[in-house]
Amino acid sequence: MIVAMMEHATEEQINYVIEKMTEAGVNVHRTTGATQSILAGVGPTSSLDIEEYKLLAGVLTVHRISSPYKLAGRGFRPEGTVVEFANGVKVGGNQVAIMAGPCSIESREQIFLVAEQVKAAGASFLRGGAYKPRSSPYAFQGMGIPGLKLMREAADAHGLLAISEVMEISQIEPMLPYIDCFQVGARNMQNFNLLRELGKVRKPVLLKRGIAATIEELLLSSEYILAGGNYDVILCERGIRTYETYTRNTMDISAIPVIKALSHLPIVGDPSHGTGRRDLVPAMAKASVAAGADGIIVEVHPNPDKAVSDGAQTLFPDVFAKLVGDLKLIATAVGRSV
Ligand code: PEP
Ligand code: MN
Repeated sequence: MIVAMMEHATEEQINYVIEKMTEAGVNVHRTTGATQSILAGVGPTSSLDIEEYKLLAGVLTVHRISSPYKLAGRGFRPEGTVVEFANGVKVGGNQVAIMAGPCSIESREQIFLVAEQVKAAGASFLRGGAYKPRSSPYAFQGMGIPGLKLMREAADAHGLLAISEVMEISQIEPMLPYIDCFQVGARNMQNFNLLRELGKVRKPVLLKRGIAATIEELLLSSEYILAGGNYDVILCERGIRTYETYTRNTMDISAIPVIKALSHLPIVGDPSHGTGRRDLVPAMAKASVAAGADGIIVEVHPNPDKAVSDGAQTLFPDVFAKLVGDLKLIATAVGRSV
Protein backbone atom coordinates (compact mmCIF):
# COMPACT_ATOMS: atom_id res chain seq x y z
CA MET A 1 0.00 0.00 0.00
CA ILE A 2 1.38 3.39 -1.00
CA VAL A 3 0.21 6.61 0.64
CA ALA A 4 1.34 9.78 -1.12
CA MET A 5 1.08 12.80 1.17
CA MET A 6 0.24 16.27 -0.15
CA GLU A 7 3.13 18.61 -0.88
CA HIS A 8 2.61 20.70 2.22
CA ALA A 9 1.35 18.03 4.58
CA THR A 10 2.45 18.78 8.14
CA GLU A 11 4.65 16.46 10.23
CA GLU A 12 1.65 15.99 12.50
CA GLN A 13 -0.52 14.79 9.60
CA ILE A 14 2.22 12.45 8.33
CA ASN A 15 2.80 10.99 11.77
CA TYR A 16 -0.94 10.45 12.25
CA VAL A 17 -1.08 8.32 9.09
CA ILE A 18 2.07 6.40 10.08
CA GLU A 19 0.62 5.67 13.53
CA LYS A 20 -2.70 4.50 12.07
CA MET A 21 -0.93 2.09 9.71
CA THR A 22 1.42 0.85 12.42
CA GLU A 23 -1.48 0.19 14.80
CA ALA A 24 -2.98 -2.05 12.08
CA GLY A 25 0.24 -4.12 12.13
CA VAL A 26 1.67 -2.62 8.93
CA ASN A 27 5.39 -1.75 8.60
CA VAL A 28 5.75 1.77 7.26
CA HIS A 29 8.73 2.93 5.19
CA ARG A 30 8.82 6.70 4.78
CA THR A 31 10.56 8.43 1.88
CA THR A 32 10.88 12.18 2.23
CA GLY A 33 11.48 14.16 -0.94
CA ALA A 34 12.12 17.88 -1.33
CA THR A 35 8.45 18.73 -0.96
CA GLN A 36 6.52 15.51 -0.51
CA SER A 37 6.53 12.36 1.65
CA ILE A 38 5.61 8.89 0.44
CA LEU A 39 4.63 6.16 2.90
CA ALA A 40 5.00 2.55 1.77
CA GLY A 41 3.07 0.07 3.93
CA VAL A 42 4.14 -3.56 3.99
CA GLY A 43 2.21 -6.25 5.85
CA PRO A 44 -1.46 -7.04 6.46
CA THR A 45 -2.84 -4.24 4.28
CA SER A 46 -5.60 -6.27 2.63
CA SER A 47 -7.99 -5.67 5.52
CA LEU A 48 -7.43 -1.90 5.48
CA ASP A 49 -10.08 0.32 3.97
CA ILE A 50 -8.11 2.51 1.60
CA GLU A 51 -11.06 4.88 1.18
CA GLU A 52 -10.68 5.73 4.86
CA TYR A 53 -7.01 6.63 4.35
CA LYS A 54 -7.85 8.82 1.35
CA LEU A 55 -9.90 11.06 3.64
CA LEU A 56 -7.19 11.62 6.25
CA ALA A 57 -5.85 15.17 6.48
CA GLY A 58 -2.78 15.74 4.30
CA VAL A 59 -3.27 12.60 2.16
CA LEU A 60 -3.11 13.05 -1.63
CA THR A 61 -3.65 9.50 -2.96
CA VAL A 62 -3.61 5.91 -1.73
CA HIS A 63 -2.88 2.85 -3.88
CA ARG A 64 -2.99 -0.82 -3.18
CA ILE A 65 -0.03 -2.71 -4.58
CA SER A 66 -1.02 -6.21 -3.49
CA SER A 67 -4.40 -7.75 -4.31
CA PRO A 68 -7.03 -7.93 -1.56
CA TYR A 69 -7.89 -11.48 -2.64
CA LYS A 70 -5.06 -13.77 -1.58
CA LEU A 71 -6.43 -17.17 -2.55
CA ALA A 72 -8.12 -16.14 -5.81
CA GLY A 73 -5.08 -14.20 -7.03
CA ARG A 74 -2.98 -15.63 -9.85
CA GLY A 75 0.06 -15.68 -7.56
CA PHE A 76 -1.54 -18.34 -5.34
CA ARG A 77 -1.46 -20.88 -8.20
CA PRO A 78 0.45 -19.41 -11.14
CA GLU A 79 -0.11 -22.53 -13.24
CA GLY A 80 -3.92 -22.07 -13.13
CA THR A 81 -6.65 -24.14 -11.53
CA VAL A 82 -8.17 -27.08 -13.37
CA VAL A 83 -11.49 -28.21 -11.88
CA GLU A 84 -11.89 -31.95 -12.36
CA PHE A 85 -15.25 -33.67 -12.50
CA ALA A 86 -16.24 -37.25 -11.82
CA ASN A 87 -16.11 -38.53 -15.40
CA GLY A 88 -12.75 -36.99 -16.30
CA VAL A 89 -14.16 -33.72 -17.66
CA LYS A 90 -11.95 -30.77 -16.79
CA VAL A 91 -12.68 -27.07 -16.67
CA GLY A 92 -9.49 -25.07 -17.05
CA GLY A 93 -6.32 -26.21 -18.75
CA ASN A 94 -6.42 -26.87 -22.45
CA GLN A 95 -10.06 -27.91 -22.73
CA VAL A 96 -12.96 -25.57 -23.55
CA ALA A 97 -16.03 -26.88 -21.69
CA ILE A 98 -19.49 -26.70 -23.23
CA MET A 99 -22.38 -26.33 -20.77
CA ALA A 100 -25.88 -26.16 -22.23
CA GLY A 101 -29.51 -26.71 -21.44
CA PRO A 102 -32.72 -24.87 -20.66
CA CYS A 103 -33.03 -21.89 -18.37
CA SER A 104 -35.58 -23.91 -16.33
CA ILE A 105 -36.20 -27.61 -15.99
CA GLU A 106 -39.83 -27.90 -17.09
CA SER A 107 -40.76 -31.57 -17.51
CA ARG A 108 -39.33 -35.06 -17.97
CA GLU A 109 -39.89 -34.87 -21.74
CA GLN A 110 -38.22 -31.48 -22.06
CA ILE A 111 -35.10 -32.26 -20.00
CA PHE A 112 -34.55 -35.70 -21.58
CA LEU A 113 -34.94 -34.32 -25.10
CA VAL A 114 -32.64 -31.36 -24.53
CA ALA A 115 -30.06 -33.62 -22.82
CA GLU A 116 -30.00 -35.80 -25.93
CA GLN A 117 -29.71 -32.76 -28.20
CA VAL A 118 -26.91 -30.98 -26.33
CA LYS A 119 -24.97 -34.22 -25.88
CA ALA A 120 -25.20 -34.97 -29.60
CA ALA A 121 -23.88 -31.47 -30.33
CA GLY A 122 -20.86 -31.96 -28.04
CA ALA A 123 -21.79 -30.56 -24.62
CA SER A 124 -20.33 -32.14 -21.49
CA PHE A 125 -22.58 -30.36 -18.96
CA LEU A 126 -26.36 -30.18 -18.82
CA ARG A 127 -27.53 -26.92 -17.27
CA GLY A 128 -31.06 -26.35 -15.96
CA GLY A 129 -32.55 -24.31 -13.16
CA ALA A 130 -34.78 -25.87 -10.50
CA TYR A 131 -34.70 -22.82 -8.21
CA LYS A 132 -35.24 -19.75 -10.34
CA PRO A 133 -34.46 -16.21 -9.23
CA ARG A 134 -37.27 -14.44 -11.09
CA SER A 135 -37.73 -10.68 -11.09
CA SER A 136 -41.46 -11.20 -10.54
CA PRO A 137 -42.77 -13.34 -7.65
CA TYR A 138 -45.65 -14.37 -9.95
CA ALA A 139 -43.36 -15.86 -12.63
CA PHE A 140 -42.48 -19.59 -12.68
CA GLN A 141 -40.20 -20.23 -9.69
CA GLY A 142 -38.82 -23.62 -10.71
CA MET A 143 -39.60 -27.29 -10.10
CA GLY A 144 -37.33 -27.69 -7.08
CA ILE A 145 -36.04 -31.14 -6.09
CA PRO A 146 -38.43 -33.12 -8.38
CA GLY A 147 -36.92 -31.16 -11.28
CA LEU A 148 -33.38 -31.92 -10.13
CA LYS A 149 -34.20 -35.62 -9.95
CA LEU A 150 -35.33 -35.48 -13.58
CA MET A 151 -32.21 -33.60 -14.60
CA ARG A 152 -29.98 -36.14 -12.83
CA GLU A 153 -31.70 -38.99 -14.67
CA ALA A 154 -31.44 -37.20 -18.01
CA ALA A 155 -27.79 -36.30 -17.43
CA ASP A 156 -26.91 -39.88 -16.47
CA ALA A 157 -28.82 -41.29 -19.45
CA HIS A 158 -26.61 -39.22 -21.77
CA GLY A 159 -23.29 -39.20 -19.91
CA LEU A 160 -23.55 -35.51 -18.98
CA LEU A 161 -22.63 -33.60 -15.84
CA ALA A 162 -25.41 -31.60 -14.16
CA ILE A 163 -25.18 -27.98 -13.08
CA SER A 164 -27.96 -26.05 -11.34
CA GLU A 165 -28.46 -22.88 -9.35
CA VAL A 166 -28.54 -22.82 -5.57
CA MET A 167 -30.32 -19.79 -4.12
CA GLU A 168 -30.08 -20.34 -0.40
CA ILE A 169 -28.21 -22.27 2.25
CA SER A 170 -31.10 -24.63 3.00
CA GLN A 171 -31.00 -25.91 -0.63
CA ILE A 172 -27.33 -27.00 -0.54
CA GLU A 173 -27.77 -30.30 1.30
CA PRO A 174 -30.87 -31.49 -0.63
CA MET A 175 -29.23 -30.63 -3.97
CA LEU A 176 -26.00 -32.54 -3.31
CA PRO A 177 -27.13 -35.96 -4.60
CA TYR A 178 -28.43 -34.57 -7.90
CA ILE A 179 -25.84 -32.15 -9.20
CA ASP A 180 -22.15 -32.16 -10.13
CA CYS A 181 -21.71 -28.41 -9.86
CA PHE A 182 -23.53 -25.68 -7.97
CA GLN A 183 -24.29 -22.46 -9.79
CA VAL A 184 -24.44 -19.22 -7.82
CA GLY A 185 -26.48 -16.75 -9.83
CA ALA A 186 -25.75 -13.11 -10.49
CA ARG A 187 -28.25 -12.00 -7.86
CA ASN A 188 -26.50 -14.03 -5.19
CA MET A 189 -22.90 -13.17 -6.00
CA GLN A 190 -22.71 -11.18 -2.79
CA ASN A 191 -24.81 -13.49 -0.63
CA PHE A 192 -21.79 -13.96 1.60
CA ASN A 193 -23.45 -16.43 3.96
CA LEU A 194 -24.32 -18.69 1.02
CA LEU A 195 -20.77 -18.38 -0.34
CA ARG A 196 -19.30 -19.26 3.06
CA GLU A 197 -21.44 -22.41 3.24
CA LEU A 198 -20.41 -23.40 -0.30
CA GLY A 199 -16.81 -23.12 0.91
CA LYS A 200 -17.54 -26.05 3.21
CA VAL A 201 -18.89 -28.43 0.56
CA ARG A 202 -16.64 -30.54 -1.62
CA LYS A 203 -18.38 -29.94 -4.91
CA PRO A 204 -17.43 -27.39 -7.59
CA VAL A 205 -19.16 -24.02 -7.68
CA LEU A 206 -19.76 -21.86 -10.76
CA LEU A 207 -19.91 -18.28 -9.50
CA LYS A 208 -21.57 -15.75 -11.79
CA ARG A 209 -20.66 -12.09 -11.85
CA GLY A 210 -23.34 -9.85 -10.32
CA ILE A 211 -25.21 -7.47 -12.60
CA ALA A 212 -23.48 -4.47 -11.05
CA ALA A 213 -20.31 -6.10 -9.78
CA THR A 214 -16.77 -5.08 -10.58
CA ILE A 215 -14.18 -7.70 -11.44
CA GLU A 216 -12.58 -7.12 -8.04
CA GLU A 217 -15.91 -7.74 -6.29
CA LEU A 218 -16.36 -11.00 -8.21
CA LEU A 219 -12.89 -12.14 -7.17
CA LEU A 220 -13.52 -11.14 -3.55
CA SER A 221 -16.74 -13.18 -3.62
CA SER A 222 -14.84 -16.20 -4.91
CA GLU A 223 -12.42 -15.67 -2.02
CA TYR A 224 -15.27 -16.49 0.41
CA ILE A 225 -15.64 -19.96 -1.14
CA LEU A 226 -11.88 -20.56 -1.38
CA ALA A 227 -11.34 -19.43 2.21
CA GLY A 228 -13.65 -22.24 3.35
CA GLY A 229 -11.35 -24.78 1.68
CA ASN A 230 -13.34 -25.38 -1.52
CA TYR A 231 -10.84 -24.62 -4.28
CA ASP A 232 -13.05 -25.86 -7.11
CA VAL A 233 -14.47 -22.53 -8.20
CA ILE A 234 -15.30 -21.57 -11.80
CA LEU A 235 -16.06 -17.92 -12.52
CA CYS A 236 -18.63 -16.77 -15.07
CA GLU A 237 -18.96 -13.53 -17.03
CA ARG A 238 -22.68 -13.16 -17.76
CA GLY A 239 -22.97 -9.49 -18.63
CA ILE A 240 -23.37 -6.44 -16.49
CA ARG A 241 -26.00 -3.69 -16.49
CA THR A 242 -24.97 -0.57 -18.36
CA TYR A 243 -26.86 2.31 -19.97
CA GLU A 244 -27.22 0.27 -23.19
CA THR A 245 -30.76 -1.01 -23.70
CA TYR A 246 -30.42 -2.87 -27.00
CA THR A 247 -29.13 -5.92 -25.16
CA ARG A 248 -30.42 -7.28 -21.83
CA ASN A 249 -26.94 -6.87 -20.34
CA THR A 250 -23.58 -5.78 -21.70
CA MET A 251 -21.36 -8.83 -22.13
CA ASP A 252 -18.00 -7.72 -20.79
CA ILE A 253 -15.69 -9.80 -22.96
CA SER A 254 -12.69 -7.89 -21.66
CA ALA A 255 -13.39 -9.29 -18.19
CA ILE A 256 -12.27 -12.69 -19.50
CA PRO A 257 -8.61 -11.82 -20.23
CA VAL A 258 -8.53 -9.48 -17.23
CA ILE A 259 -9.62 -12.30 -14.90
CA LYS A 260 -7.21 -14.74 -16.57
CA ALA A 261 -4.40 -12.33 -15.69
CA LEU A 262 -5.59 -11.54 -12.14
CA SER A 263 -6.72 -15.00 -11.06
CA HIS A 264 -5.87 -18.68 -11.46
CA LEU A 265 -9.56 -19.66 -11.49
CA PRO A 266 -11.17 -20.88 -14.72
CA ILE A 267 -13.73 -18.55 -16.28
CA VAL A 268 -16.62 -19.33 -18.61
CA GLY A 269 -18.72 -16.97 -20.71
CA ASP A 270 -22.53 -16.91 -20.57
CA PRO A 271 -23.63 -15.16 -23.77
CA SER A 272 -27.30 -16.02 -23.17
CA HIS A 273 -27.70 -13.79 -20.12
CA GLY A 274 -24.90 -11.62 -21.49
CA THR A 275 -27.04 -10.49 -24.43
CA GLY A 276 -30.63 -11.62 -23.78
CA ARG A 277 -31.08 -12.20 -27.53
CA ARG A 278 -30.60 -15.51 -29.26
CA ASP A 279 -29.42 -13.84 -32.49
CA LEU A 280 -26.39 -12.48 -30.61
CA VAL A 281 -25.53 -15.56 -28.57
CA PRO A 282 -23.31 -17.34 -31.15
CA ALA A 283 -21.16 -14.25 -31.79
CA MET A 284 -20.60 -13.62 -28.09
CA ALA A 285 -19.93 -17.32 -27.40
CA LYS A 286 -17.26 -17.30 -30.11
CA ALA A 287 -15.84 -14.03 -28.79
CA SER A 288 -15.63 -15.57 -25.29
CA VAL A 289 -13.58 -18.52 -26.50
CA ALA A 290 -11.39 -16.29 -28.67
CA ALA A 291 -10.77 -14.11 -25.60
CA GLY A 292 -9.53 -17.09 -23.60
CA ALA A 293 -12.62 -18.42 -21.81
CA ASP A 294 -12.36 -21.95 -20.40
CA GLY A 295 -15.88 -22.72 -21.51
CA ILE A 296 -19.30 -21.38 -22.32
CA ILE A 297 -22.67 -21.87 -20.67
CA VAL A 298 -25.63 -21.34 -22.99
CA GLU A 299 -29.39 -21.79 -22.85
CA VAL A 300 -30.81 -24.35 -25.30
CA HIS A 301 -34.39 -25.66 -25.45
CA PRO A 302 -36.13 -28.10 -27.82
CA ASN A 303 -38.71 -25.37 -28.49
CA PRO A 304 -37.37 -21.99 -27.24
CA ASP A 305 -40.56 -20.13 -28.11
CA LYS A 306 -42.40 -22.30 -25.59
CA ALA A 307 -39.76 -22.03 -22.85
CA VAL A 308 -41.17 -20.96 -19.47
CA SER A 309 -38.22 -18.63 -18.86
CA ASP A 310 -35.61 -16.78 -20.95
CA GLY A 311 -36.98 -18.02 -24.30
CA ALA A 312 -35.76 -14.95 -26.19
CA GLN A 313 -32.12 -15.74 -25.40
CA THR A 314 -32.45 -19.51 -25.78
CA LEU A 315 -30.93 -21.27 -28.81
CA PHE A 316 -32.67 -23.78 -31.03
CA PRO A 317 -30.82 -27.11 -30.88
CA ASP A 318 -29.64 -26.92 -34.51
CA VAL A 319 -28.19 -23.45 -34.00
CA PHE A 320 -26.40 -24.72 -30.88
CA ALA A 321 -24.95 -27.66 -32.84
CA LYS A 322 -23.63 -25.28 -35.51
CA LEU A 323 -22.16 -23.06 -32.77
CA VAL A 324 -20.24 -25.95 -31.21
CA GLY A 325 -18.76 -26.70 -34.64
CA ASP A 326 -17.62 -23.08 -34.96
CA LEU A 327 -16.20 -23.13 -31.42
CA LYS A 328 -14.04 -26.10 -32.33
CA LEU A 329 -12.40 -24.01 -35.05
CA ILE A 330 -11.91 -21.04 -32.75
CA ALA A 331 -10.54 -23.20 -29.94
CA THR A 332 -7.98 -24.68 -32.35
CA ALA A 333 -7.00 -21.21 -33.49
CA VAL A 334 -6.21 -20.19 -29.88
CA GLY A 335 -4.40 -23.42 -29.04
CA ARG A 336 -7.26 -25.11 -27.17
CA SER A 337 -9.71 -27.88 -27.92
CA VAL A 338 -13.48 -28.33 -27.45
C1 PEP B 1 -29.63 -18.58 -15.22
O1 PEP B 1 -28.53 -19.12 -15.42
O2 PEP B 1 -30.71 -18.99 -15.71
C2 PEP B 1 -29.65 -17.32 -14.45
C3 PEP B 1 -30.71 -16.94 -13.75
O3 PEP B 1 -28.51 -16.63 -14.59
P1 PEP B 1 -28.01 -15.23 -13.94
O4 PEP B 1 -27.85 -15.50 -12.48
O5 PEP B 1 -26.71 -14.99 -14.64
O6 PEP B 1 -29.04 -14.18 -14.24
MN1 MN C 1 -31.89 -18.03 -17.61
